[in-house]
Amino acid sequence: MKALVKARPETGLWVEDRPVPDIGPEDVLIKVKKTGICGTDIHIWNWDEWAARTVPVGLVTGHEFAGEIVAKGAQVTGLEIGQRCSGEGHLIGKLSRQSRAGRFHLDPATRGIGVNEPGAFAEYLRLPAFNVVPLPDAIDDDIGAILDPLGNAVHTALSFDLVGEDVLITGAGPIGIMAAAVARHVGARHVVITDVNPARLDLAAQVADVTPVNVAQQDLREVQAKLKMAQGFDVGMEMSGNQQALDQMIESLVMGGRIAMLGIPPGKSPVDWSRIVFKAITIKGVYGREIFETWYKMIAMLENGLDVRRVITHRFKAADYVRGFETMRSGLSGKVVLDWT
Ligand code: ZN
Repeated sequence: MKALVKARPETGLWVEDRPVPDIGPEDVLIKVKKTGICGTDIHIWNWDEWAARTVPVGLVTGHEFAGEIVAKGAQVTGLEIGQRCSGEGHLIGKLSRQSRAGRFHLDPATRGIGVNEPGAFAEYLRLPAFNVVPLPDAIDDDIGAILDPLGNAVHTALSFDLVGEDVLITGAGPIGIMAAAVARHVGARHVVITDVNPARLDLAAQVADVTPVNVAQQDLREVQAKLKMAQGFDVGMEMSGNQQALDQMIESLVMGGRIAMLGIPPGKSPVDWSRIVFKAITIKGVYGREIFETWYKMIAMLENGLDVRRVITHRFKAADYVRGFETMRSGLSGKVVLDWT
């Protein structure tokens, strides 16, 4: 089969012929139809410090996918050949306290497909049946291929009660934009999304009913006044990993405000902790998706009118993956989907 491989410890990914993966008794084999390119994949393409430390050379990359089950192990029940599916790319351990309590997303032994284990940028993917998420007819393969990042957005957005709340999202990448759509869907009052990239802010306004703010040109306090916020934002979602964005978020929150943090700062970043203490702010780090509660909620919302389709701005044939990665690396795109059919 064709697969996109980190074949050399340098910038890029390469197509290689690989054997179709063998499956064990508790696995399924998935024929991959569509895949999404993630920010993580860009790190792996660029071969930055994190990628070089984490990803083994020779690995099949990719973790955002939709496809169809074409074979299953002898002990797999409840799944049939031909079932359309996506799946959780975090392969969890079963021994930790967290796992045994059913909090699978907090298992410290987690390994990621396309990062530590063979991934989904290939014609076929081996996946434990446990990780499979069947797709209802209402969710096509394009949306199926972006459920992993939509799940990050849903996990972040549902971290705190948003009904009637004023929400600030810093970072208008695809996950920030989808989180904004989710916040609207579940009943937030005002949703403001900030960035310094006009293309991303335009896309945010197309995908969701939000107020885009370019913080390089506009004063966030003026926007707050225009929206008649008495004190500030009730809930923040930090999606950028940017120091100034986090500072501005802490500054703009109400007393007792809450922050869900998904953005990853590039290194240690100084925080004015006394502000957090005196404003009685709660900060929650968000990692991955709740397995499988986030998936359940996300699929239910998609079936009930949540629309994030326009966050997919580019589609390429898998053979054209170089253009797909260049589009992502330009910073001017939303989600880029590769077609493996
Ligand atoms: Zn991803």
